[in-house]
Amino acid sequence: MTAVTENTVPEQLDLELLNPAFEAADPEKIVAWTAARFGNDAVMWSSFGAESALLLHMATRALPNIRIIMVDTGYLFPETWRHMEQLRQRLNLNVWVYRTQNDPIAYLHQAGEENPTYRKDRDACCGANKNEPMNRAMKELVPKAWLRGIRRDQADTRKAVQFVEWSQRYSAHAISPLLNWGSRVIDAYMKKHDLPYHPLYNEGYASIGCNPLSCTRPITFGEDPRAGRWAGTGKVECGLHLPANNSLDSSRL
Ligand code: SF4
Repeated sequence: MTAVTENTVPEQLDLELLNPAFEAADPEKIVAWTAARFGNDAVMWSSFGAESALLLHMATRALPNIRIIMVDTGYLFPETWRHMEQLRQRLNLNVWVYRTQNDPIAYLHQAGEENPTYRKDRDACCGANKNEPMNRAMKELVPKAWLRGIRRDQADTRKAVQFVEWSQRYSAHAISPLLNWGSRVIDAYMKKHDLPYHPLYNEGYASIGCNPLSCTRPITFGEDPRAGRWAGTGKVECGLHLPANNSLDSSRL
């Protein structure tokens, strides 16, 4: 297996040319470009969340055997596993599950988290149970590119994201075809291809992560779709999409 280091030389892509051209491109064209440029050296990350079926559908049309990373924090909703299995069978997905190294109950005890429905230290929990497995996945799979479904309208931290970025953290190009899409066009694509939403979507869960109420709750009418994630805490990212290694990356236990 090839070792990945921070000094790995990136593919020579002219991002200054590419990114402005992609601003007006259809996401399917960006996925097709990814397939042509990287082939099986590309992976995809999926949360198997609310609208995850969309990019999974797009990606597997271009790269039927693309490796799909799913991070098991130990705290996912049972409905997420059901949704993953439904999509795995429907789209014949090649899913690679990377699990936390912590026993979920033992973690709560060791971290002083007395209430399983609430996290006092969300950054520590995301670091140990979400970012560590993702970092491990990227080190083991050694992709040259990773597709992700983030959008600019989801958070202020995502507004300046470019379609193709070099990720020093993962030593791979991060490719985000859906950056400019909003809920209306997403709904239209889901309907056109008869794709299922996450089972909790119709219960008001517009963005779905882990099951503690401090991490995912349903939203009410008029709330921002991501308002239910780490509600009221100021936290907007689990850390997977942050550009560099930071305190979220390593287990603190
Ligand atoms: S989203 Fe919540 S439960 Fe999941 S890893 Fe982060 S803090 Fe832990």
